[in-house]
Amino acid sequence: MRRWSTAALALLCAIAAHAAGTALPASISQGGLVVARLPELTQASVGGKPVRVGADGTLVFGAGRDEAGPLLVNLAYRNGHRETLRIAVAPRDWPIERVDGVPPKTVNPPPELAARIQREQAEVVAARNRDDDREDFRAGFAWPVRGRISGRFGNQRIYNGEPKSPHSGMDIAVPQGTPVQAPADGIVTFAKPGLYLTGGTVLLDHGYGLSSNFLHLSRLDVKVGQRVRQGEVIGAAGMTGRATGPHVHWGFNWFGVRLDPLLLPGIAKP
Ligand SMILES: [Zn+2]
Repeated sequence: MRRWSTAALALLCAIAAHAAGTALPASISQGGLVVARLPELTQASVGGKPVRVGADGTLVFGAGRDEAGPLLVNLAYRNGHRETLRIAVAPRDWPIERVDGVPPKTVNPPPELAARIQREQAEVVAARNRDDDREDFRAGFAWPVRGRISGRFGNQRIYNGEPKSPHSGMDIAVPQGTPVQAPADGIVTFAKPGLYLTGGTVLLDHGYGLSSNFLHLSRLDVKVGQRVRQGEVIGAAGMTGRATGPHVHWGFNWFGVRLDPLLLPGIAKP
């Protein structure tokens, strides 16, 4: 029987990936998401962390705001071939964004509220650590509302003159009460009004550790465990929590890694 050299097998794998799947890109932007399909893929890890591989070789991962790269991606195929790819991460500029007129008690919460804020954030972290085999991300994403982008992902935020964490999502300014639509199919993993910093808060799980979060909502129309379809109304825009005016904050995560909604597949640039 003919024996294939490792190089020949690697070439065959690459050809197969190009022929029937979606190959991995050579580089991605900070805050970017990769959705790839490598036929015959059985196992993968990104930066040493094992990631889910679908029956057809689907895998997803992202690069955080401060990821310098390269991302080391280890892949194992059904025929025994293994390879390590280095995905370069293109750096971005992170402008300073000043937000004035924020309620002072949300910029420096009173110490007696620290435990409550910590508890609320822990619940959100638990919701987005879910690793579900649904592939609701496969059809791509759509804007949850249409409006002016009033705050961009990753910008260095200065609230009332005080430097705080970078902005974790994208703000879209819309009138109070504007219906907010699911950007993709998903399952509601968190839905609570009145969180101290984020106000009315909804999380949708799109599968494979990908989740959307919607903050500052004035109304919630969904419950935990509910299945939603792309375009379905999940709540209404507001300015609850740390906000200066009505807008929708759309955050997007790959597990704990925050990604830029503007870079998601299917999202038309404004
Ligand atoms: Zn925001």
